[in-house]
Amino acid sequence: MGTEIEEIKSRLNIIDVLGEYIRLEKAGINFKAVCPFHNEKTPSFMVSEERQMWHCFGCQKGGDVFSFVMEMEGVEFKEALRILAEKAGIEIKTYNYQKNKERNRTLEILEEATIFWEKRLWENTEGKIALNYLKNRGLRNETIKKFRLGYAPNGWKNILDFLIENGYKMKEIAQAGILVKKEKKENSKDDSGYYDRFRNRIIFPISDFSGKVVGFSARVTPGQDESQAKYVNTPETDFYHKSRILYGMDKAKNQIKKRGWVLLVEGNMDVIACHQAGIENTVAVSGTALTQEQVDLIKRYTNNLKMFFDMDKAGESATQKSSKLCFRREINVKIVTLPSGKDASDLARESPTKLKKAIAQSSEAVEYFFQKAFLKFDKNEVIGKKKIAQYFLEVVSYLENDVEKNHWLRKMSEALNISEMALTDMLKKVSLETEVGEKKNDIQNNKLDKIFSKQETLLNDLIGIMLIYPLAWKKGLEKAKQEDFSFLKMDSLFLVMAEKGESCGFSFDNFTKFLKEKREIKERAEKIFFQKKFQLDLNNNLIEIDNVDSLAELENILKELKKENLKHRLTQLTYDLKLAEKRGEEEVSLILRKESGKISGELAKIIG
Ligand SMILES: [Zn+2]
Repeated sequence: MGTEIEEIKSRLNIIDVLGEYIRLEKAGINFKAVCPFHNEKTPSFMVSEERQMWHCFGCQKGGDVFSFVMEMEGVEFKEALRILAEKAGIEIKTYNYQKNKERNRTLEILEEATIFWEKRLWENTEGKIALNYLKNRGLRNETIKKFRLGYAPNGWKNILDFLIENGYKMKEIAQAGILVKKEKKENSKDDSGYYDRFRNRIIFPISDFSGKVVGFSARVTPGQDESQAKYVNTPETDFYHKSRILYGMDKAKNQIKKRGWVLLVEGNMDVIACHQAGIENTVAVSGTALTQEQVDLIKRYTNNLKMFFDMDKAGESATQKSSKLCFRREINVKIVTLPSGKDASDLARESPTKLKKAIAQSSEAVEYFFQKAFLKFDKNEVIGKKKIAQYFLEVVSYLENDVEKNHWLRKMSEALNISEMALTDMLKKVSLETEVGEKKNDIQNNKLDKIFSKQETLLNDLIGIMLIYPLAWKKGLEKAKQEDFSFLKMDSLFLVMAEKGESCGFSFDNFTKFLKEKREIKERAEKIFFQKKFQLDLNNNLIEIDNVDSLAELENILKELKKENLKHRLTQLTYDLKLAEKRGEEEVSLILRKESGKISGELAKIIG
């Protein structure tokens, strides 16, 4: 597998691969981005094209293309390998062939079904009503084709029979989510078990962000049996996870990156109409409100979001919920409103110019909720005042920035003629409720998954300076032998460095070549190297650290390490001593006291 990994790496450029997932900006010879793995506003995520590596100075994650895809897609190494091999056009022989085949079969089925239904839409006899409906909604032929809309004819076994005839098994087709299992009647011998999920419906294929069809949303054909649910969707499958998909993202992502903002609308039809009207950076939530995963998906491409939901009660509540999630991730939100209460697709059809104007005139979300509070409740009544404050402070409690929070508190205080102090107290209460409500939201986990202890930080510092400077590497090994750094000998990377330093000529590049097969160790070495060699300056530019007196720094780190080591042992001894005294073990206590006296002395010498 090793050669395949190298082959994939040599064919793919890290900039292209990462660029599909996140918006990269050039920063000198490197690239930077807002980190997709932790919550931040200013980019501390760096990509080095030269080294084909990435690193985040905020959350300390880093690695190569493989580790990026693993992290981003939440998959194991083998799956990342498969994804990247496909991008690189390489066939992997050692890969789990069976599983891969299954996966491909499902995707094939979804694709075949898409084509089947597309054809039915354009066939005069069956799909005419559906096609006319789409055209009456103002969609042009090329738009209908671009979004691959289709028509599922009436009947129980259309797609089922078609796919069976084409060699797919019932079970495989069911796995794709396009069939429904029959309720088995008692005494029935009929074992065919499944029928078509979508019947007499307009089909909207749903793609993942890379453009593969992973599911469908199907609208009842207008004028047909409208007593049924208006939309029927694919259930959750191995490929289709509703909460992780934004309709239209595959077609919008490049425009989002280019224009620097995204338009978020409610439904599939809104997306299609907006794209046709030239607003090609539009995506839709596939539920009532945005999910955290969708917010994170958006954040890969932009920090600016304009929200255009219906202005009915459901739309209003979705606007509020979605905005709060965005605030938490420090996304700038603007709200698009229309006095007439029309939805995005109506307006896109009637007048793209008006739609664009409405988007341009969108208001800052917090300002929008501020105004809204006064429209909802009467500020001349005491109870109204309280309700206004409560409604608005709930929104404010989701803001991450204190300056911003204070600004709005002041504004609210003036408008309601209530002291800022009273509002601050109220906000505290509301914030607490918000926090409790969010419970163990993943934000906390995301913030800094790894907080290194001081000893670990120093250890990484030591390894870093050794990896960068051959002299320090050599010297570091000698020193480590002389001193009692037992924890160093437990570190796998340090051990390999000790073992192979000489034969690699104490060169980092030779060393990483040697580590090729030891993936985890190699990754850690690269990460530490990168972190030590580069730093962010005040303007968040990546600068390379040079001209370091490496030996002096080495001495420094070793001294600190020794100090930490002694401190650590002293704490342990003090604890043991207390225990021994408590138990009345005088002899043990004596020894421990002596030992701790000795260590205190050593420590004093170093600090002295
Ligand atoms: Zn990060």
